Amino acid sequence: MKAILIHQTGGPEQLQLGETALPKLGPKQVLVKIAVSGVNFIDTYHRTGLYHQPTPFIPGMEAAGTIEALGEEVSGLQVGQRVAYAMNIGSYAEYAVIPAWQAVPVPDAVSLENAAAVMLQGMTAHYLSHSTWKLEAGQTCVVHACSGGVGLILTQLAKKIGAKVIGTTSAQPGSVKYELAQKAGADEIYSYENFKPKGVDVVYDGVGAATFQAGLNALRPRGMMVTFGNASGPVPDVSPLVLSQKGSLFLTRPTLAHYAATRDELLWRSGDLFRWIADGSLWLHIEKIYPMAEAAEAHRDLESRKTSGKLLLKN
Ligand code: NDP
Repeated sequence: MKAILIHQTGGPEQLQLGETALPKLGPKQVLVKIAVSGVNFIDTYHRTGLYHQPTPFIPGMEAAGTIEALGEEVSGLQVGQRVAYAMNIGSYAEYAVIPAWQAVPVPDAVSLENAAAVMLQGMTAHYLSHSTWKLEAGQTCVVHACSGGVGLILTQLAKKIGAKVIGTTSAQPGSVKYELAQKAGADEIYSYENFKPKGVDVVYDGVGAATFQAGLNALRPRGMMVTFGNASGPVPDVSPLVLSQKGSLFLTRPTLAHYAATRDELLWRSGDLFRWIADGSLWLHIEKIYPMAEAAEAHRDLESRKTSGKLLLKN
């Protein structure tokens, strides 16, 4: 099969189209013929080596497609069924083998493009707002990089709950990227330099090094700092005493794998997202669909900060 292979970690040029063997199907697994693969920031961490993977490997943590074959012990799924998944490496390819419990059936009302676009970033936005800190109406949250993939969805979910959203972005007022954050419902939007709110209940921070300190200063006593990503670099070490000095704060560093750890949890989160897409209460912004061979360009665009919403690769 054709796949993007990384033989050596480094820049986007390391994403090269090649030929590799079809992955072997185990008894509790399914073989998925991938139609669309999602591009996520985590793919850049794998590519650079920030998150270690043994080489050579196929990057990509998210896709939608159809089931091509079932392992012997798999029940409840069918060959030809439309499915989507996230958090399994190897989606920049024509086929992937994944654990059957991670294959989520895609309802007819949701396109495979939207399914691939929402699995990883959407479930992340869902667990951040529904589980890590269960947002309530009237609370105030900060969403850093509110025009990004997770950011646009998280902003919409927070507004759906009835919370106030203070967002940050490098985009300038009047730009398409800025207007998307406004459309998502952000109540206030700041540049990173002008971000100085006080008394917020929770900070959702996928930007990391550049925003972590300002986020701690923005929280009310007993508020929560949710540092969930490193778009600007990893957060430096922090002393627990700082949390006490700034108001008995909570600090957590969550990851989707621990919040979509069972099939029930996966179906709950993806089911909510698919239903909201189908009823129009959640929209997705697909910025660009690239041919699989242009994965390097997709990474360059994502890292350049020019994009908003979702980038996809199509077979
Ligand atoms: P995005 O589409 O949001 O892209 C990242 C955004 O971060 C950019 O658009 C940019 O927006 C902003 N940014 C701020 N500083 C920088 C910088 N120095 N370099 C590049 N971008 C920067 O990506 P994703 O939605 O895929 O991911 C967002 C974050 O969430 C990432 O850190 C990712 O790792 C994390 N994540 C974590 C998960 C988890 O479970 N822990 C799961 C999914 C994602 P702007 O220009 O407006 O500042």
